[in-house]
Amino acid sequence: MAVPTSTTLLKMENIPNKGRGLIAAQDLKAGQIILTESPLLLYSASPLFSPSPSPYCHHCFRTLPPSQIFSCPSCSNYLFCSQKCLSIALNSSHSSWTCQTLSHLQNPASPLSEKPSQLQLQARFIVAAYNLAIRTPSDLQALLSLHSIPNDDESDAIVYASKFIHSLISPFCPPHMNFSPQLAAKLIAIERANSFCLMEPYSPNGPQRSIKAYGIYQRTTICNHDCIPNACRFDYVETGEPGDEHNTDIVLRLIKDVSAGSEICISYFRINKDYSTRKRILMEDFGFVCECDRCKIEANWNEGENKDSDLPHVIFLSKFVCDKVNCAGTLAPLPPKDGEKCNVLECNFCGNLKVDSTT
Ligand SMILES: [Zn+2]
Ligand SMILES: [Zn+2]
Ligand SMILES: [Zn+2]
Ligand SMILES: [Zn+2]
Repeated sequence: MAVPTSTTLLKMENIPNKGRGLIAAQDLKAGQIILTESPLLLYSASPLFSPSPSPYCHHCFRTLPPSQIFSCPSCSNYLFCSQKCLSIALNSSHSSWTCQTLSHLQNPASPLSEKPSQLQLQARFIVAAYNLAIRTPSDLQALLSLHSIPNDDESDAIVYASKFIHSLISPFCPPHMNFSPQLAAKLIAIERANSFCLMEPYSPNGPQRSIKAYGIYQRTTICNHDCIPNACRFDYVETGEPGDEHNTDIVLRLIKDVSAGSEICISYFRINKDYSTRKRILMEDFGFVCECDRCKIEANWNEGENKDSDLPHVIFLSKFVCDKVNCAGTLAPLPPKDGEKCNVLECNFCGNLKVDSTT
């Protein structure tokens, strides 16, 4: 089966015990960009009842400029970096339906105001997903075609959240859309297994890495996890002109050469986490046990053991984990020039460039 991408670099195949995955359709080089993709859906990571307003444009998620901010003329709650972002948002992510529904949910008397921020974010997501469905029904089908953890939409927490959120939103739902608590539960389960975080800009002084928006990228999400990945994702949210929407694209770039027929994998989190933390996150958030080469070795380690060994994955981590303070992003070579491998590594979180002295 071909991957629905515009490239001939990748194909999608079923991989034993893993479900769908991305396979190199030809020999690929370290640093090569193998996929660039715009989000199917994007929503703010700021809870509906946040103590401080989000410092990011509610459409492109760039940091708002110090002056000349544009607010939604109807609700005045939602701020945009430019007239262009505001205009685009009013016809898409902040449609009149979204504006009206969010205004209702964010009313100080709303029962959501007492609820944990996770539930407030799930409400944000459901509004974004319903808005997508109202505007472009085929995009809802694309969203529903993504995988989720089996039976996750029947878990007690998700059933509770979906019923509660749906009951708040249903007075605003167009009757012909047939939105239901069951649909909301399915969407929340899909979101859990497929959302990518767009991070706040790196700062060496902290605070710790936090998230400014969540996005669903329907092709990138096919990529499976490996604790020693051969690809990693970049985004350049803060770059470009206001109103240029491609700043929220995800770019997948190879860390190492990959031969035709090999699977392309990314890590679903920072690669320097220890075995027990990785095991817990992969089970709780993604519902599987990782059987990668690194996990097979580290499963038998005692606390702190073997960290200085010359095992391939220990060497990999020392080379490809960014050592800037407060970063720990993943490094990948810049794209090859004239077919020649580039010896400059770029960090996918802080953006630092570093000459690879080992090649
Ligand atoms: Zn903007
Ligand atoms: Zn509004
Ligand atoms: Zn693993
Ligand atoms: Zn870094």
